[in-house]
Amino acid sequence: MDSTVVLRNIGNVANLSTPLGLLVAIGGRGRFTVVDGLLVAESVTLRGVTASAMTIGSVVLVPRQTLAEARARIPGLLEHEGRHAHQWAYCLGLPFIAAYGVATGWSWLRSGDRATVNVFEMQAGLALGGYPSRETRPLGEGVRALVAAAGALVSGAGARRSGRPAAASAADAGV
Ligand SMILES: [Zn+2]
Repeated sequence: MDSTVVLRNIGNVANLSTPLGLLVAIGGRGRFTVVDGLLVAESVTLRGVTASAMTIGSVVLVPRQTLAEARARIPGLLEHEGRHAHQWAYCLGLPFIAAYGVATGWSWLRSGDRATVNVFEMQAGLALGGYPSRETRPLGEGVRALVAAAGALVSGAGARRSGRPAAASAADAGV
């Protein structure tokens, strides 16, 4: 195993991200295997996760399917996830969650998509991870989309409180 992979894996145990990944994998009843210096939990149950894989520390979680099935659709998947494992190491573990969240928000503002200009996904390789390449949009357009989404959320919550569906509420307001 390459020495950077060994250092990464030691770092991710020390910064507690790999232990966190292990807990999630065990909780989701994943089947463990080791591939290319990564601990892979296959067929893991992860509620609300629609991605083909998710990496926590040096643990790659593959929901609902085996690694072979996921790689049949996305051949570069494990290489992509291995780069995320390096990101967990250089962000010193848990701060990666916050940094990734900010990068995801920025990407959404600039492209309407969580990966297109997310620095961590770009570094991990968008094509390797099976992400389509999309156009970016001007920041002002992203901000307007965010305001519209927040408005829809607030009007939806208001409609729920008053017992009416959101669409009816919007029509009432003449939107
Ligand atoms: Zn990724």
